[in-house]
Amino acid sequence: MSRVAVVTGGASGIGLGISERLAARGDRVAVLDRQGDAAKRAADTLRAGGAQAVGLEVDVSDRAAVESAMEAVRREFGSIEIAVTSAGIAAEHPFTDITQETWDRVLAVNLTGTFNCLQTVVPDMLEAGWGRIVTISSSSAQSGGPNRAHYIASKGGVIALTKALAVDLAPHGITVNTIPPSIIDTPMAQAEEAAGRFPGVEAIAAVTPVRRAGVPADVAAACEFLCSDDAGFITGQQIGVNGGWYL
Ligand code: NAD
Repeated sequence: MSRVAVVTGGASGIGLGISERLAARGDRVAVLDRQGDAAKRAADTLRAGGAQAVGLEVDVSDRAAVESAMEAVRREFGSIEIAVTSAGIAAEHPFTDITQETWDRVLAVNLTGTFNCLQTVVPDMLEAGWGRIVTISSSSAQSGGPNRAHYIASKGGVIALTKALAVDLAPHGITVNTIPPSIIDTPMAQAEEAAGRFPGVEAIAAVTPVRRAGVPADVAAACEFLCSDDAGFITGQQIGVNGGWYL
């Protein structure tokens, strides 16, 4: 069955992989991203492959912009049935150097951005009596990690939001799960490596039990399952896609 799916951060990395995967199974996919041109290019590519897709520029921290983007999706495809929230920003500073402004921005995008998107689409799902929500959190929120208290706190909030919403929405046919990935080889990971803020995709791969870094398709495969009818009894879960990473 073709569903209407929105994927935030869908123009790059994990979100792009998820957009491709959902489009390939026949969903109508809205690619939402702050990089509007990249979102439109991604949608063009999906359409060239035979899918129905639209690309929209939106900053998920801007509530009004989120509401008007979701309205545009409804006009294009109808009521929204699936939401995947992959839009996010990385940050690394020693705890004592985190400015109020940086803290606020990381929380605004990673946590409030997730809230903005989900609160805007959940009424569609309640009306339909069916919905699938997958948030992208981070394994760092399960393990902790150095110099990323703001990022990790934001992702911990995403996990907690996911678990709380799962309970609220379960009686309505809506599942809410989170994927907390470990290192996935994406433009974000490559930029962090280039900036010297993280040991590198290959170095992490060497100490990952499966001996490789993840790729967006690894996350997309798990996400597609969570967005299926078959996953209706799975909710409130943290589905690690991490190659056995245990730190
Ligand atoms: P990425 O940078 O390749 O993609 C993120 C996308 O989000 C980009 O297209 C970017 O433009 C978009 N975005 C950023 N801020 C936005 C905003 N305010 N509004 C709308 N769109 C915005 O990164 P990625 O590695 O694919 O990361 C995707 C998600 O996975 C992020 O939430 C990230 O924190 C999380 N994550 C990534 C890794 C990893 O190793 N790559 C590990 C754990 C968690």
